[in-house]
Amino acid sequence: MSDHKKIGIIICHRYHTCAGGKCLRALRNREGAFKLYRGQEVELVGYTTCGGCPGGNVEYAPAEMIKNGAEVIHLATGVVVGYPPCPRLDAFCCFVEKSYGLPVVIGTHPIPQKYFFNHQALGTWATPAWQDKIKHVLDDEPIRLAYN
Ligand code: SF4
Repeated sequence: MSDHKKIGIIICHRYHTCAGGKCLRALRNREGAFKLYRGQEVELVGYTTCGGCPGGNVEYAPAEMIKNGAEVIHLATGVVVGYPPCPRLDAFCCFVEKSYGLPVVIGTHPIPQKYFFNHQALGTWATPAWQDKIKHVLDDEPIRLAYN
């Protein structure tokens, strides 16, 4: 495993004014999906939005990130915590992996507690498929509260 990982982040355009605070904090602390890189150097080589539904920028953004050396694309946690969650998530993962040959990780920062409660009540993630999708960002309650 390389000890220097270059990553790109694509966020849901619903949160396009987001300054990236939670993602960058999680990256610095190696929390949420960035637990994957504990013990490794990580460099953020690209950060953009999907461009808004239906997510046309996902078709192009990875190319630019690859020019900066991106080895993996993270789809930010907003794609699973927004309501409704992104309906194109599977297509995005499949497209980036097959067209660009890059692995995709679903999620960035830990799921905040308020979203956790909402989606528990709604049953959004009550299937094995969804549990798999949120596995990197479903942390315990103290962490969820810290990202609320
Ligand atoms: S729901 Fe999906 S396609 Fe729509 S803005 Fe968010 S990430 Fe993009």
